[in-house]
Amino acid sequence: MKEPSSAIIPFFVSFLWLCSTVHSILPFCASLDPPIKTIPTSWTSSFNDSLKFLPKKSQQVLNDFIQCLGETSQSNPPIYTPQNTSFPHVLLSLIKNRRYFTPTTPKPLAIVAPTHESHVQATVICTKRHGLQIRIRSGGHDYEGLSYVSDLPFVVLDMFNLRSVDMNLEDESAWVQAGATIGELYYAIGQKSKVHGFAAGSCPSVGIGGHFSGGGYGPLMRKYGLTVDNVEDAKLVNVNGRILDRNTMGEDLFWAIRGGGGASFGVILSWKIKLIRVPPKVTMFNVRRTLEEGATDVLHRWQYVAPKLPEDIFIRVGIQVKNSSQEGKKTVQVLFTGQFLGQSDKLVPLVNERFPELGLQQKDCFEMSWIESTVFMAACPIGTPIDVLLSRPKAPAIFFKSKSDYVKEPIPKHGFKSIWKKLIKIEKVWMQLNPYGGRMSEISESATPFPHRAGNLYSVQYFISWMEEGIKTTNHYIKLSRKLYTSMAPFVSKNPREALQNYRDLDIGTNLRNHTNFHKARLYGRKYFKYNFDRLVQVKTMVDPQDFFKHEQSIPPL
Ligand SMILES: Cc1cc2nc3c(=O)[nH]c(=O)nc-3n(C[C@H](O)[C@H](O)[C@H](O)COP(=O)(O)OP(=O)(O)OC[C@H]3O[C@@H](n4cnc5c(N)ncnc54)[C@H](O)[C@@H]3O)c2cc1C
Repeated sequence: MKEPSSAIIPFFVSFLWLCSTVHSILPFCASLDPPIKTIPTSWTSSFNDSLKFLPKKSQQVLNDFIQCLGETSQSNPPIYTPQNTSFPHVLLSLIKNRRYFTPTTPKPLAIVAPTHESHVQATVICTKRHGLQIRIRSGGHDYEGLSYVSDLPFVVLDMFNLRSVDMNLEDESAWVQAGATIGELYYAIGQKSKVHGFAAGSCPSVGIGGHFSGGGYGPLMRKYGLTVDNVEDAKLVNVNGRILDRNTMGEDLFWAIRGGGGASFGVILSWKIKLIRVPPKVTMFNVRRTLEEGATDVLHRWQYVAPKLPEDIFIRVGIQVKNSSQEGKKTVQVLFTGQFLGQSDKLVPLVNERFPELGLQQKDCFEMSWIESTVFMAACPIGTPIDVLLSRPKAPAIFFKSKSDYVKEPIPKHGFKSIWKKLIKIEKVWMQLNPYGGRMSEISESATPFPHRAGNLYSVQYFISWMEEGIKTTNHYIKLSRKLYTSMAPFVSKNPREALQNYRDLDIGTNLRNHTNFHKARLYGRKYFKYNFDRLVQVKTMVDPQDFFKHEQSIPPL
């Protein structure tokens, strides 16, 4: 077992890009993005000019909207319009996917960045009054850009100024505002306690607002379930601009926002979470195998073992294409990343008894505090200062397209072999498999809108990313992602082919423009929510019958 060495810290001081270079995995998390220190002027100038001269009608609507904001809220909220030089920077800073930042991507008429809850109330009231669409953005990680793009004239309600975390160790809870990131939440917990943690995702820059309301999963899910399984209360601004809490919104709406997507129901201001107990030391490991080193056999066995291991163990799989040791050839590398809520002297014999194929050795294991483990999980090297959790990206680094699946029966070895051929052809693809079981299997499918519980061995994410600009390249990679997805059909869930709502994918069904059609919505609704879709529709009908809070994959009213 190795203890993190402080001697190596200077090598890693917050050069965030090292997180990707050293681990040499795909630049997936914000902390892994190549650094964008200054935004290229070509990115901003291309749309600056067109936006400065809004059509007369839009300018009038915008003026009326701004006047309404001033009259409705207690003070003036920060507001950015295309006339402000900082507008492109504010817009860009929370765009994660460059696919949704091109000269032709529709831009908002304004970005409102509340510093007070009353600003959120006023923005809801005024967008509704002036017939504008509202797009709510917390961390901007929506895979399909739905928090900052719309075909209709729209305003972005940007929550980044509302990001406080108020801890209460006495009752082991915290209130966290929607504009905080997961990293900021983890950091705040780590500052106050060595024995508390929280069950959420592994990418520090993901926003609390979107992540929680889509369910939220992470390395503690086999022991504690999803993020929303550990939420006790929430504050939300409803369609009439009223602030509600769990008590005043009622259990139906409180159920709906815990996994049904917040943006169909209102603006979530903050969540009250139940902190979880973690041991002072946890153990982390990375074990890599290429095809030549028997990766297929180890992965095949992983499917049987990982979902049945004790709840304290979580072993995630990352798959990517690498250069083979044979010159000019490619191979597939499978990375097994583990987290154990305990020390390595217990972990190593346990894994070797249940999963000897992995060949886990003491030297692969690193003991550290839970807060340090969140940095490890974000693929930063051992010794990276935990301040990295507070980093926020300045601009999107990559173009990407992602899709998800659920596996209920182990994929046979010959299945993996056919998958490897496809991955090697695509090259710029990364897959992640997350084991279920444990606490995830004990919670009923209808306890929250998130239905993927017992019966799932693991979830799959396919992530294709590229750096080259241009519609031709984008279309090429999107086509490849669809082909890969189609080829996976024999191995994954059917009727419906389930999908993870937090990995939004417009290919599985979408409503266009201003109308949310129930039958179209049922296509994606069943995949994301199974039969919980019906209850979500009932709640929507009750709380927002005029369908003000809508987007391309929102829940329709009846
Ligand atoms: C790099 C990366 C890593 C990820 N890792 C994980 C992971 O480990 N586990 C996991 O479960 N997911 C993960 N995700 C998915 C992530 O949880 C979702 O994309 C989530 O919706 C992002 O939330 P956000 O606030 O950052 O995004 P946003 O783009 O701001 O919002 C996403 C959606 O939520 C809505 N929304 C945002 N804020 C509010 C609010 N305050 N009130 C109402 N609606 C709101 C938006 O309108 C939009 O529809 C990852 C995504 C990325 C890009």
